[in-house]
Amino acid sequence: MGPAASPSQAASASRYPHVFSPLDLGFTRLKNRVLMGSMHTGLEEAEDGFHRLAAYYAERARGGVGMIITGGVYPNREAGRGSKLSTPAEAEQHREVTEAVHAADPEVKICLQILHTGPLAGTPDCVAPSALKSRIGRYTPNALTEEGIAQQIADFAQCARMAQKAGYDGVEIIGSAGYLISTFLVQKTNLRTDRWGGPWENRMRLAVEVVRAVREAVGPDFILIFRISAMDMLEGGLAWDEVVGLAQAIEAAGANMLSTHFCWHEAPVPTIATMVPRAAFTSVTGRLRQVVGVPVITSNRINMPQVAEDVLARGDADLVSMARPMLADPELVNKAREGREDEINTCIACNQACLDHTFTGRAVSCLVNPRACNETTLNYLPTSQAKRIAVVGAGPAGLAFSTVAAQRGHQVTLFDAASEIGGQFNLAKQIPGKEEFHETLRYFRTMLAKRGVTLRLQTQVDVAMLQAEGFDEVVIATGIMPRTPDLPGIDHPKVVSYLDAIRGRKAIGQRVAILGAGGIGFDVAELITHTGASGALDLQVFSREWGIDFQNHPRGGVTGVLPQVTPSEREVWLMQRKTDAVGKSLGRTTGWTHRTVLQRRGVHMVAGVEYLKIDDAGLHTRIDGEPRLFPVDTVIVCAGQTPLRTLFDQLQAAGLPARLVGGAYEAAELDAKRAIDQASRLAAEV
Ligand code: FAD
Ligand code: NAP
Ligand code: SF4
Repeated sequence: MGPAASPSQAASASRYPHVFSPLDLGFTRLKNRVLMGSMHTGLEEAEDGFHRLAAYYAERARGGVGMIITGGVYPNREAGRGSKLSTPAEAEQHREVTEAVHAADPEVKICLQILHTGPLAGTPDCVAPSALKSRIGRYTPNALTEEGIAQQIADFAQCARMAQKAGYDGVEIIGSAGYLISTFLVQKTNLRTDRWGGPWENRMRLAVEVVRAVREAVGPDFILIFRISAMDMLEGGLAWDEVVGLAQAIEAAGANMLSTHFCWHEAPVPTIATMVPRAAFTSVTGRLRQVVGVPVITSNRINMPQVAEDVLARGDADLVSMARPMLADPELVNKAREGREDEINTCIACNQACLDHTFTGRAVSCLVNPRACNETTLNYLPTSQAKRIAVVGAGPAGLAFSTVAAQRGHQVTLFDAASEIGGQFNLAKQIPGKEEFHETLRYFRTMLAKRGVTLRLQTQVDVAMLQAEGFDEVVIATGIMPRTPDLPGIDHPKVVSYLDAIRGRKAIGQRVAILGAGGIGFDVAELITHTGASGALDLQVFSREWGIDFQNHPRGGVTGVLPQVTPSEREVWLMQRKTDAVGKSLGRTTGWTHRTVLQRRGVHMVAGVEYLKIDDAGLHTRIDGEPRLFPVDTVIVCAGQTPLRTLFDQLQAAGLPARLVGGAYEAAELDAKRAIDQASRLAAEV
């Protein structure tokens, strides 16, 4: 248990009175209203996985969260590939996790999520109410028989029984997202004509029976959370009165908390990407809260304590679930309680190191916190040999290196030629939908000061300067230079680099060709075709653009009318030389949102382009062997980057050793995830 709060901590906690009020469940009590939502990390299946999971969850328990929900665990083999819990031997393995969390703070509760992915199980044995293949499923599921359904219910109960045996404080049953239980609920995935299909009372029978069986298995003094789909985001999804009826039936069957979930995985609506406004969906939870008696949990894009406090204060929920924010900063809750909000490493909702990794079979971590899920292997321990270190370049790589090295006790001086820290993040933060990048810069600004890094901005560093100051180590984090394609007419006045385009240094015409359709090409297209408020900052704009109706809540939550996107006044061609689909290289879980937005704005995406020349007439190309002229006023070059190593090369020539990180080390396929990860690991060792 942590020490008693000091007067200043009590004052900070009182800034968030709702967040820090305990919740009494009768047989148990949660110390505050923040829970860490369920996330699959990949550690579940890793060698030494339980040991690593124990360290990962214990760090979050020490960080102040009230309750933790584990990543999903399968009750049987057809429920999904990966971590299963149904036997005493398996329960024994989980003990390391529950004991570590309770040892870290006996007041913190940890619940196991029971996950049955139904038709999304990725195994030919997968099961569902009907043999209908999901748009995103790998196999056509086997329609369950009456006996098969009874077995699934028994397996849920057995899994819960084993969770209790393993020392968990409760379980969460996921009844949403297009997984088994939700496919019984929704008419279009449940074509059965027996007592498990057809009328609504039949379709909700499985959900109710599972909850009843689990409650019977674990007795009354065990937390039982049901994750309910409050908005399926699917045409033909649940109507609001069905959501209400289900919630009430689940409560009657023995759940003592409901957690609202939004969106089936196959639904074409972003619900957690960075373009989604903070706390966008909580009003729906608020409506549900009015018709049930048990505490209700809300989630999605709640990433800072004030957002959580506002959600709770307006009565939208009894608890808030923060999942990815706990990857980004395990100490988030403690920092809020102690008035250290400026030190919170905020989740920017990029999905780059978490969900994108999950969906491509890689271990999860976090772009802004590479220690996430690496707690046993990456630690920033005090150094026994403090050094004077010069870091040149205050982009993500230089910032990460400096803060970690200084935390370990090194004396760090960080230089940048610019007047502010951030490097290319200062460009990224200007893209509509990427406003959260400001938070990362705020975090680094705070941590540089707190860790005592000497910051020297507006300082173009050269060899003589480094020689004169006699540092023990020099780290070169000078980033990149935009690539300039070797093309006749590339110096024509209508050609603009992405740097100048984003900084607004050059006028952009009405007809624009963007050369290069990587992450930056897409961001530039977003910037120059965007009008009005950013959807990430305005719920009305966001809901219009994605056809969501939060107010009337039609069946499934979607309006059924085409999303209303303001078409661009510019005519824009986004081009690449590859013949792959344009945007294929974007993030697995977010790329489709960017493609969809630009297509709705009328941006032309052209692949397989051979660039020939640029002149007064426009951009001359060859496509499929045929010459084609794009009569554009502006050509914006987003053709990738090369490392900026001028200073490094000069140091080498002068015989001064230096280390390279970030874009200066390798520009190809560089992103902030790699820059921060590489720099943090180097700083952990230096
Ligand atoms: P940089 O950020 O380029 O920083 C290098 C710094 O070194 C600069 O501040 C520069 O002024 C300084 N410098 C150079 N030479 C000297 C010198 N001699 N003396 C002093 N200072 C010097 N990545 C993602 O992961 N996700 C995204 O969503 C994303 N979006 C992006 C959007 C845009 C519009 C852009 C442009 C980039 C985006 N990126 C994104 C890429 C990401 O910003 C880069 O990968 C990252 O900034 C590279 O970090 P770095 O520290 O290596 O270099
Ligand atoms: P990129 O993703 O590598 O894209 C570069 C583009 O330039 C490609 O479309 C490439 O396509 C084209 N290209 C390369 N060489 C060329 C040449 N000689 N002539 C003409 N075209 C050329 O790089 P980026 O867009 O500059 O982004 C930099 C990094 O920032 C990326 O690694 C990216 O991950 C990161 N970033 C991420 C996001 C995000 O949302 N996650 C957003 C922005 C940036 P062809 O070769 O087919 O023409
Ligand atoms: Fe958040 Fe991005 Fe980290 Fe995932 S990788 S937790 S979305 S900051």
